[in-house]
Amino acid sequence: MSDKTILILGGGLGGITAAANLRRLCAPEHRVVVIERSATFSLRMANLWLMTGERQHPEEGERSLSQLAEHGIEWVRAEIESIDPTAKTVKTSTGTFAGDYLVIALGAERHPEAVPGFAAAALDLYEATGAVRIRHALEEFKGGRVVILVARTPFSCPSAPYEAACLVDSVLRRRGVRERSAIGVYTPEDIPMLAAGSDVGEALLRLLKDRGIEFHPEQIVMKVDPAAHLARFELEDATYDLLIGIPPHRVPEVLRAAKLADASGWVPVDPGTLQTRYPGVFAIGDATSIRLPVGMFLPKAGVFADEQAHVVAENIAAEIAGKVGSRRFNGHGFCYIEVGDDEAAYGAGNFYGIPAPTVTLEPPSPRYRQEKHELERTAQSLWL
Ligand SMILES: Cc1cc2nc3c(=O)[nH]c(=O)nc-3n(C[C@H](O)[C@H](O)[C@H](O)COP(=O)(O)OP(=O)(O)OC[C@H]3O[C@@H](n4cnc5c(N)ncnc54)[C@H](O)[C@@H]3O)c2cc1C
Repeated sequence: MSDKTILILGGGLGGITAAANLRRLCAPEHRVVVIERSATFSLRMANLWLMTGERQHPEEGERSLSQLAEHGIEWVRAEIESIDPTAKTVKTSTGTFAGDYLVIALGAERHPEAVPGFAAAALDLYEATGAVRIRHALEEFKGGRVVILVARTPFSCPSAPYEAACLVDSVLRRRGVRERSAIGVYTPEDIPMLAAGSDVGEALLRLLKDRGIEFHPEQIVMKVDPAAHLARFELEDATYDLLIGIPPHRVPEVLRAAKLADASGWVPVDPGTLQTRYPGVFAIGDATSIRLPVGMFLPKAGVFADEQAHVVAENIAAEIAGKVGSRRFNGHGFCYIEVGDDEAAYGAGNFYGIPAPTVTLEPPSPRYRQEKHELERTAQSLWL
């Protein structure tokens, strides 16, 4: 058995989980190499806590990737410039690397510039710095109209805009300005989290209604006018005093250039093994598209990136050991949905369900919120 090199492209949630599991499962002579441009790892779920002030600084949830070396994982800090999936080579800003296996975990790129006026007008919930800016804006908010704007689908973490709306409601009530305020979610979706099934969507709509939060479905924003505080949609216009935005997402350009993406705009993979159409090249997490039996695509969420990373790591390790890997991604997932007042609802189930996903939503409770914090701690300690 010759020594193998596994190149993991991207050191976010999927990439780090894959690396940690490969290191645990493969003998030390095999190299596990993470190529990542950023020096730190953090979970973006913490943006919601940065937004409410429960967490003050983005650095609080960060871990340095330099710690990977202590655990036998090589980290190359570099920009990935091109990928040759046939040769399994990766050209980066610090040189070219060749692997026996590639695990692509490059996530989704966000493009606020794709909607005219969006970048100038909207505070970006999906950037830690944007979440902090939202907090400052909420601290000074004297009443008015808060719009949470989902620019395009698909986007990462389909529950996040609804969590943000509930948390804004909670913060404004705490500050005594809720009665002078309106909160509305504008989204291209028909119903929240449709891929989880209409029961979950209806339950989320009830949570919004109970809190007096407007829901404006099927709204595709064309442009935002920062001077007039106006978002223009195909169907209607919306004025705002505070605009919280989720920018358009796209597959990383480097994957499009490598012709790894298809007409869905994302990287198609085998729904069980996560292998791309290239043998030995796998893709996991937000960069992928997996069509569900019901016809929609699997949502982009960390819980799926995490489980897919386990599947790929186990199967690669088995193959290196001369066995046949049998672990398959089965479409099961869960999420904790913050609703404010220190509570979260809990959704879980099978997204691969036939004929439709079988996902249920448990009502909000403080326990689920605690579990969400524990989840973050577990994920952060992956390699510590
Ligand atoms: C506000 C918010 C809340 C969320 N809450 C939840 C939640 O509660 N539960 C849940 O399951 N999910 C949640 N998510 C979604 C979750 O964060 C993502 O689904 C998950 O991070 C996807 O993992 P990934 O490995 O595919 O991509 P990422 O974690 O985005 O990692 C991709 C990595 O690739 C690197 N990269 C990209 N291109 C290059 C390049 N060319 N060269 C070098 N490096 C590159 C990036 O720097 C990044 O580190 C949330 C997301 C947001 C924004």
